[in-house]
Amino acid sequence: MTERAKLLLVDDRPENLLALEALLEPLGQELVRAESGEEALRHLLRDEFAAILLDVQMPGLDGFQTAELIKRRERSRHIPILFLTAISKDAEHVFRGYGAGAVDYLMKPFDPHILRAKVAVFIDLWQKTVEIRRQDALLKQQELTAIERASEERYRFLGDSIPQQVWTALPDGALDYVNQRVLEYFGRSFEELIGWGWSDFVDETDLPTTIERWQTSLQTGEPYEVEFRLRRASDGVYRWHLARAVAMRSGDGDGEIVRWFGTNTDIEERRVAEDRQIFLAEAGWVLGSSLDYEQTLTDVARLAVPRIADWCTVDIFVGDRLERLALEHVDPLKVALARELQEPMLAASAAAGATAIRSHEPVLVREIDDAVLATFGFDETQLKIARTLAPRSYVTVPLIARGEVFGSISLITAESGRIYGNDDLTLAQGLARHAAAAIDNARLYGEAERRSRAARALDAVGDGVVLVDRAGVIRLWNAAAATITGLPETDVLGRKIEDVVHRWHEISALVPVASRPGEPVRAETVPVEFGGRELWISGSGVGFEEGVVYAFRDLTEERALEELKAEFVATVSHELRTPLAAIYGSAQTIRRTDIELDPEIKDQLLGVIASESDRLGTIVNDLLIAGRLDADRLPLAIERCDPVELAGLVVEAAKTYVPETIELQLRVPKRTTHVIADSGQLRQVLLNLVDNAIKYSPEGGPVSVSVSNGDGLVRFSIADSGLGIPASEHRRIFEKFYRLDPDMTRGIGGTGLGLYICRELIRRMDGTISVESKLGEGSTFVVELPAAAEQKSPRKRKASAKTG
Ligand code: ADP
Repeated sequence: MTERAKLLLVDDRPENLLALEALLEPLGQELVRAESGEEALRHLLRDEFAAILLDVQMPGLDGFQTAELIKRRERSRHIPILFLTAISKDAEHVFRGYGAGAVDYLMKPFDPHILRAKVAVFIDLWQKTVEIRRQDALLKQQELTAIERASEERYRFLGDSIPQQVWTALPDGALDYVNQRVLEYFGRSFEELIGWGWSDFVDETDLPTTIERWQTSLQTGEPYEVEFRLRRASDGVYRWHLARAVAMRSGDGDGEIVRWFGTNTDIEERRVAEDRQIFLAEAGWVLGSSLDYEQTLTDVARLAVPRIADWCTVDIFVGDRLERLALEHVDPLKVALARELQEPMLAASAAAGATAIRSHEPVLVREIDDAVLATFGFDETQLKIARTLAPRSYVTVPLIARGEVFGSISLITAESGRIYGNDDLTLAQGLARHAAAAIDNARLYGEAERRSRAARALDAVGDGVVLVDRAGVIRLWNAAAATITGLPETDVLGRKIEDVVHRWHEISALVPVASRPGEPVRAETVPVEFGGRELWISGSGVGFEEGVVYAFRDLTEERALEELKAEFVATVSHELRTPLAAIYGSAQTIRRTDIELDPEIKDQLLGVIASESDRLGTIVNDLLIAGRLDADRLPLAIERCDPVELAGLVVEAAKTYVPETIELQLRVPKRTTHVIADSGQLRQVLLNLVDNAIKYSPEGGPVSVSVSNGDGLVRFSIADSGLGIPASEHRRIFEKFYRLDPDMTRGIGGTGLGLYICRELIRRMDGTISVESKLGEGSTFVVELPAAAEQKSPRKRKASAKTG
């Protein structure tokens, strides 16, 4: 259907316009009237006209001026103008009309046929132009569609040819296109995946984040980027993908979102590599965090699952047997099942471990099939369990440190469907290196600890312990060894023992050495010289691969005591034999019948028997007291006693037997305080001292007993001018059995117990005993005891409660 054309009729006179309309009506087109040039221009702004019929004479803009303006405007300059005039028929006017762009110049009155015929030509022309334009537009549209189709084809081809998964989504987020890769990966039809169907194939732990990010991008228009695991149809394995999408917008790119254009890139390799690195770093950290390697290895197994394995076991050699230290499974319910397989697996691993000892090689089994399962020697039930657990791939690496295989770590895949490759093997080896180093460290530390404890213990023992290596060099010298020998560890370590111990070759020949620890040997006592000091050392040794360990103790004092005892026996025998001989001889003489004994002599002999019996009694008494003091069983009755009275009694008693050459003196103050002591025992002490003073003054001379007090003490001094005692012996004369002249070269006998008893008794009375003496210048023994506070009641106590 042809479009109706518009004709613009311009005339300032309505009756003219009316006439024109009537004339043109039969053409069947739309007639638009304008009563001035201005109105005509306004119509031209709004509509398109096939022709303009323009009156020349008009008030305001006349026909020529109007035509000029029309021609000046781009959109209207091609419209044919037919001038209409009643008056301007002269050539000038006609010429001006054509000059203004008229296609015709019609004079009134018009011939209706001619007018219609002329106008019809222009209408026809206009309609043809319109038709051509329409055809043109149609053609363009068709071309465009064809181009679009071609470009879509191209895009589709592009989409299908690139290795990534490509998709597009509508502004609401629903997928409306996926490429061939997507279909292949998910193993689903286009219909199943578009919209939101894809979300069924995202790992469920990753899904919430994925959806959240997608929604955020849909709302903000920001690019979408997320990493998630997508299930692959071919093997059911979830692989890591990076999804990215950007919004396509209308207009120049700042309009509304028309569509999302997205890709999913498989980043499984990268993620796995990253996970491996992170895992190794964390495992290293865990292993270094504590020396309790059993705990850290268990923690590492826990760390490995599910990151790099679906189950992980750590087995450690205890002797020849492998023991399972850790077992972790991605599915806690399957741990118990996995334990069922433990024994045969350990046995197999132990065998593999044995192989590893020889080869140090790890084992990688990419695909576990029936043949592989068979190598574990499972029984029927175990085989069923193994099939339930469905292991797919495993790697076992030995834990080796300094050439020793400690055990092994195994990584096994099942649920994840992962297949181990060389990268996983490298990872497992890295892990094993960390773990073995940790075990090694822990063991070394334990060993060092044990050694340092042993060293501390060695320093605490009272026996000297010395290690001499095979080259004869001293490697250990404990604290007791230093104390006994007087040689500090720093002076002897690293030195040859023969340079440290004088005459070592002779000594070492005497000291018995066991060939192995635990073999019984008797220690030998040998004299050894250290720094000019001779010691009696009792020692023995034990040989072992590093050398010999000697243990010894100092028996010098015991040895001295032994010697003293031997001397004592000799002395006491002599001491006892002398009075006994005198008694025996006297008694025999009295019994003789062949001679008549003078009564005076008989009396003298009886006197000898009495005094020698008394001497015997004293000796026996001394022995008894010394024995009771040693056993700490001598009760004392501590009380206030009068020192002057005591001293008097002692002097009186001594007078009965003192030789004439001795002059006994008693020096006491007029007034003195009481003394706190056991009066009986104190008397015994003073008697002993007076006895000694007399005994060791063979040339005679004065022996004085004096009493004094001051500083809360009561002091008894027994002085003689006899043999005297050299200063070096002042301390030793108070020792048990010690005698200055054991061989009695001067003929003065004794047991060596008197001063020992004195010292012990005085000490038990809270007092002291001391001596001042020089050889040949006599001696003064001083006993000091606590003075009693005036008017205080006497106190009684058992001395046995207090010793030394
Ligand atoms: P003993 O039975 O030998 O007298 P003591 O223990 O009483 O034993 O004395 C020990 C030693 O001290 C004596 O052997 C003697 O050598 C010396 N001694 C003791 N008292 C005196 C003294 N007054 N003068 C010189 N030497 C003394």
